[in-house]
Amino acid sequence: MRPAPLAFADARADLQGAEFVIFGVPFDGTSTFRKGSSLAPEKIREASYNFETYIFEQDIDLDDVPVHDAGDVECSGGVKEVLGRVRDFSSEVADSGKIPVAIGGDHSFTPAVVESFDDIGVVILDAHLDFRDSYEGEGLGHACTTRRVSEVVGIDHVIPVGVRSFSREESTDAKDLGLSYIPASEIFEKKLMASTARKALSFVERSDIYLSIDMDVVDPAYAPGVGNPEPFGLTADQVRELIDLLGSRLVGVDFVEVSPPHDCGTTALLTARLIREAIAVMKKAHR
Ligand code: MN
Ligand code: MN
Repeated sequence: MRPAPLAFADARADLQGAEFVIFGVPFDGTSTFRKGSSLAPEKIREASYNFETYIFEQDIDLDDVPVHDAGDVECSGGVKEVLGRVRDFSSEVADSGKIPVAIGGDHSFTPAVVESFDDIGVVILDAHLDFRDSYEGEGLGHACTTRRVSEVVGIDHVIPVGVRSFSREESTDAKDLGLSYIPASEIFEKKLMASTARKALSFVERSDIYLSIDMDVVDPAYAPGVGNPEPFGLTADQVRELIDLLGSRLVGVDFVEVSPPHDCGTTALLTARLIREAIAVMKKAHR
């Protein structure tokens, strides 16, 4: 691990005493369209200083929550080596009963964090299905995240939510292998986020949930600075509401695909705020 130039705001606990452990994965080696997510952990940490420590809706003051910022995973070498380091560190965190909060980087590392847990369900908020078996010859890339996660936890225990883009081949594979997903259009039809959260939880059939948030699930109007922006997405508030609804079940979270070179600062700010929201709702549930 490498120390971050600036720690996430209010992350003042040491590792030993922490309930939440933030770490960055500044790796964009598998990005396919707009690179730059390797710069996201730093920009999101900077943006985190914009906000009040008190999150009034949750009645939680982050000043009172033991959060540790462990810095960044060393990201030299290829994707396989990076994933190995992520797996080692997140296992250490999870094995000691702490909650990992990972900041990407591209979406490729999520399966490595998921491997740190037993018997979990995985909810993935993403504009894309990420269900390719391989993409441009790479099976560990960010276009294959859901596929690899399904191989770790089983196809019945993973569900992408907010989806609005996939290839014909991914569609066929999803049908053949039995992958369920919730399209963004269905969320808009139902209006209430509670029914989406309920459906996602009933699909994954597990009490402990890992939540992976590819920031491109949010509409580019709210989150323009991502690697693969996709119109017709969720509002920022809908994503926050989903985090609130899933909060009591979460054992780990990640936030990926923010690309600062394509951002006006808005996406990093939103991500920092959603990270603070996630920590607050998890703390509220566990206290
Ligand atoms: Mn995506
Ligand atoms: Mn993704």
